[in-house]
Amino acid sequence: MPTIAHTPQLIDQFGRRVDYIRLSITDRCDFRCVYCMGEDMTFLPRNEVLSLEECARLVKAFVSLGVSKVRITGGEPLVRKNALSLFEEVGHLPGLRELTMTTNGSQLEHYAHDLKKAGLNRINISVDSLNPERFRKITRVGDLNKVLRGIEAAKQAGFANIKLNTVLMRGFNDDEAIPLLEFAIRQQLDVAFIEEMPLGEVDHSRESTYISNKATLKLLQAHFPLISSAETTGGPARYWRVAHTHTRVGLISPHSHNFCEACNRVRITCKGELYLCLGQENKVDLMPLLREYPHDDTPLKEAILASMQIKPRGHDFDLRRNAPAVIRFMSQTGG
Ligand code: SAM
Ligand code: SF4
Repeated sequence: MPTIAHTPQLIDQFGRRVDYIRLSITDRCDFRCVYCMGEDMTFLPRNEVLSLEECARLVKAFVSLGVSKVRITGGEPLVRKNALSLFEEVGHLPGLRELTMTTNGSQLEHYAHDLKKAGLNRINISVDSLNPERFRKITRVGDLNKVLRGIEAAKQAGFANIKLNTVLMRGFNDDEAIPLLEFAIRQQLDVAFIEEMPLGEVDHSRESTYISNKATLKLLQAHFPLISSAETTGGPARYWRVAHTHTRVGLISPHSHNFCEACNRVRITCKGELYLCLGQENKVDLMPLLREYPHDDTPLKEAILASMQIKPRGHDFDLRRNAPAVIRFMSQTGG
């Protein structure tokens, strides 16, 4: 594990230190999860998407400015051709304390071993149901067995603290919180339950499927001995430990404003747009700087430093409004 730490330089106007980036390396995906995408999605043409070399340049620039944690996401990061080369390029970067990835798990059985070798530290795998038919309904096309094989491959490759991500939705999988936590305990995994966020227009009303994590916590507490944990990621997750097991349960409540005060992260889309908040439009386009100055990172780093002045205080999600809070899908901004 690298020990060199770069001096923190990304401090926003509210004094929050940004040391975590989430980089989406593709808007494409082999699934069409009902809460994430419409049935017919138009994806970006190739030349409007960052090359993997440009992604690596971005990661290196952010790390040189004091970022120590990078999450690679998408879309589905592993459907990007040659995605592994990016992990190999940045996996052992001095100053990068943690390289993580969020994946739907569909390709993991092929890549888990090489990803571990490349320096990927942790994996989050999205699983919304343990029932194959229901899994297909939620993902519209996904094969649960492939994902289960992907989880097993990640364990075999030696990944520790694998975390399952589950978006609970009323009428879709709201009765699966308990079976999913039982599965996580059996498999010695962590699990995070995520409240659905109003990102992008989908086929259902978000208000009708929304389940609060308060209700989920109450349900889980009635079935499992949960011990509140002080751990925080600087993000919207709160953690509980299931007594006498290796499993932690995270409850991610993006609708709560409490976590914005401690926000330490920014997101970069696969088009190179640096979004300063998941729920706001404030952004800086980094692609022109990458392409106009292919051999000089100074303008890029200056733009990243200047962006700290437009990081908003917090998001503005409101499920009761009939329009999405933000027009972008999570697959565009990166989860
Ligand atoms: N394809 C990968 C996956 O599914 O894990 C990575 C990208 S996905 C956009 C990242 C995470 O965002 C997933 O855990 C997914 O469940 C979550 N997500 C997508 N749309 C969401 C929404 N509208 N509300 C809450 N979570 C969402
Ligand atoms: Fe694809 Fe992930 Fe979105 Fe599902 S949540 S459609 S797997 S990007």
